[in-house]
Amino acid sequence: MSLWDSLLIPERERDQLRRDVASSRPTHAWLFTGAAGAPHREAAKVFAAALLCEQPDPQNRGCGECKGCVTVMNGSHADFTHFRTEATNISIEEARELVMKAQDRPTVGRWRVILLEDTERMPERTSNVLLKAIEEPPPHTIWLLTAPSPTDVLVTIRSRCRPVQLPVPSEEQVHGYLLSRGVADPLARRAARLAMGDAEEGYRLATDEQAMARREMTTSLILNVRSISSAFSAAEKLTDLAEQDAQAVSAAKDERERAELMALLGIREGERVAPTLRAQVRRLEDQQKRRAKRVASDTLLHSVAQVQTVLRDALTLSLSAQLPLINEHLREPLTAWCERRSPEQLLQDVQAVEITLRRLRTNANARLALEALMSRFVA
Ligand SMILES: [Zn+2]
Repeated sequence: MSLWDSLLIPERERDQLRRDVASSRPTHAWLFTGAAGAPHREAAKVFAAALLCEQPDPQNRGCGECKGCVTVMNGSHADFTHFRTEATNISIEEARELVMKAQDRPTVGRWRVILLEDTERMPERTSNVLLKAIEEPPPHTIWLLTAPSPTDVLVTIRSRCRPVQLPVPSEEQVHGYLLSRGVADPLARRAARLAMGDAEEGYRLATDEQAMARREMTTSLILNVRSISSAFSAAEKLTDLAEQDAQAVSAAKDERERAELMALLGIREGERVAPTLRAQVRRLEDQQKRRAKRVASDTLLHSVAQVQTVLRDALTLSLSAQLPLINEHLREPLTAWCERRSPEQLLQDVQAVEITLRRLRTNANARLALEALMSRFVA
C-alpha cells in the first residue's frame, strides 16, 4: 500500500499532486486547506514524503517504504521541517527561523521541504516575513502551508500558493476505507459514524476497544449531569478521558515510528545507537515531544466537538427527523433526555459548544470553560 492509498482525497487532487511530485520542477508553494476531519494535513505530509521519496521511478514516489518516506512521515528527515504551533499566534521569530531554514540546501534529498501548519494563526506582521521567501524561494525549496480554509489565510500569502482544497470525507467513504482495511460490519459502520470524516480516527476506534469505550463515555457525559457538582465532575471526566486518549495516541505512534526508524538504521532491539546515527534518533524524539503537546490539545477539542454531535442528535430526535444518529448507541437515553429540553434550548446549547471550542483554541483556562459548558445541562 503506497502512502497515497491511505488518503481519502478526490481523484483530481490526487492526480494533480502525483503529477507534480513526478515532475522535475514541482510548484514551489502550496496551500492545503480543509475543515475539521478533512485530510489536508495528512495530504501535505504525504506530498512531502513523496517529494523526498527515494524510488528511482518518479511514478512510484510516495511508496511509504523507503527511508525518505518513512523519515518524513515520522518527522526525522534531515531535509524536512514540520512546524505547528501550540500558541494562538505564530511569532515573528518562529517565522524568521523557518525562512532561514528554507535557505539551506538539502543534505540528502532532492528538495528542502517546509511544512507550515496553522497558517491562519499568522498575524499580518509575521506573514510579511514569509512573503518574499514564499514568492521566490531558493530553487531547491518547497513550501507546504495548511489552514482550515483559503479565506483564513492573508490574501498576500494565499495568492502566492497553489491551492489544494480538500473536502471532509463522507461517512460512506470512511466506512469503505475501514472495510478495505479489514474491519468488518457492524463495527466498521459504528466507527465510521463516530469518526466524523477522519479516516485514521475511524480506524483507531475500530481497532482499539479502549479508545472506542472512551469515545462513547465522552458522548454520554452530558446525559448524566443533574446538579452543579455533577456538572463539574463531568467537566473533569471529559478532561481526563481526553488526556488518556491523547496519551494512548502518542504512545502508539511514538513506538511505531521508533521501531520503523531503528529498522531503517539497522539497529536491533536493545542495541546501542552508534554516534553517527544519534542525531537522527534525537530528531525523532524532539519531534515526538512537540507532537505530544499538540495531540493533547487537539484531542480535547475533538472531545468537545463530540459533545456537540450528541446535541445535534438530540435536535434530530426532538424535531422527529427520520435521520440516523451519529451516536446511535445513545438513542434511548437521548430520547428521554431531550424531552426535558426544547429545540430552542438545544440550538443554544450547540452555540455554547461553539463558543467553548473558540475559547479553548485561544488557550483559555480549559477547566473553567468546560465547567461553564457542563453547567448548562443541570436539569
Ligand atoms: Zn518512498
